Amino acid sequence: ETFDIRNNQKGEKEFENALRPLTFSDFSGQNKIVENLKIFVQAARMRTESLDHVLLHGPPGLGKTTLSNIIANELNVGFKITSGPVLDKPGDLAGLLTSLEVNDVLFIDEIHRLSPIVEEYLYSAMEDYRIDIMIDKGPSARSIQLELNPFTLIGATTRSGLLTAPLRARFGINCHFEYYDIEVITEIIKRSSRLLNVEIGHKAAVEIAGRSRGTPRIANALLRRVRDFAQVKGNGSIDVEIACYALEALNIDKYGLDEIDNKILNTIIDKFSGGPVGLTTIATALGEDAGTIEEVYEPFLIKEGFMKRTPRGREVTELAYKHLGKVKLGETGT
Ligand code: ADP
Repeated sequence: ETFDIRNNQKGEKEFENALRPLTFSDFSGQNKIVENLKIFVQAARMRTESLDHVLLHGPPGLGKTTLSNIIANELNVGFKITSGPVLDKPGDLAGLLTSLEVNDVLFIDEIHRLSPIVEEYLYSAMEDYRIDIMIDKGPSARSIQLELNPFTLIGATTRSGLLTAPLRARFGINCHFEYYDIEVITEIIKRSSRLLNVEIGHKAAVEIAGRSRGTPRIANALLRRVRDFAQVKGNGSIDVEIACYALEALNIDKYGLDEIDNKILNTIIDKFSGGPVGLTTIATALGEDAGTIEEVYEPFLIKEGFMKRTPRGREVTELAYKHLGKVKLGETGT
């Protein structure tokens, strides 16, 4: 049985929240983004103005929500949170916007999934802190204009390619999240262990980090599971032996690849002799969306050296063959 790390387990949300960093200094990695944001936040505070609207894009679990919360904390303003699919009526958006106090942060997750009508309303809100809402229906319908407090919209998306040009243009600050290096993930695991009051050895932290797919959310979820093994099978503290034992028992891929990662590599090898093959062809063979492969899966596989982009398409590397225990065609019978 494979342990599905992406599947939100019971209590996972509470657990995540307990480990969420609350200040810039608690947030590890994404250095360039954080350094710039610190300046922009400080400048906004000095002018007692709202911070420019911010777009955060990158794969899931890398800290977009966390960093948004930190921005509000560091600005010392209120923080409201919603998501694209939830905001399906203009009235919902109007209610949220009018409830914001001066310079508050409104966070919209999955902003690429806003309905076109709601998105339209957002334009004037972002630009002029103003919205026109329709009241009444039929012949007595009329629009009234509402003034809003200045605010900062922080939009997060895993699929920036799906954002419309007019929406994208309204963000003054644009940040792209990268997968974390193993050293940073190791630090995050150690910090989480401290918060959970669990002792962990350096080697054990590195072992878990290596299987975390460069993603803090996965690192914390793995730590949570390994902690269970340490409690039941050991003395409660996590050393490298118990970490390896737990990760084996949970069937976690040695490189942190998940089911879809492996499926992508297997497909390129089995159906397209390892490539090069075009992205849309891979997507069709997998029954996945090409944009999702390009923006969510491929960056990690490329970063870790399992796959590369060539002018003629995607190609898997030696490492992918080795990892999947496959032999490159034409190299059999040696
Ligand atoms: P996203 O919004 O990008 O999907 P989240 O902000 O929800 O990701 O982060 C998922 C979890 O990972 C959070 O619970 C948080 O504790 C942890 N996390 C994310 N980024 C960091 C970081 N840079 N340092 C420490 N913990 C982090």
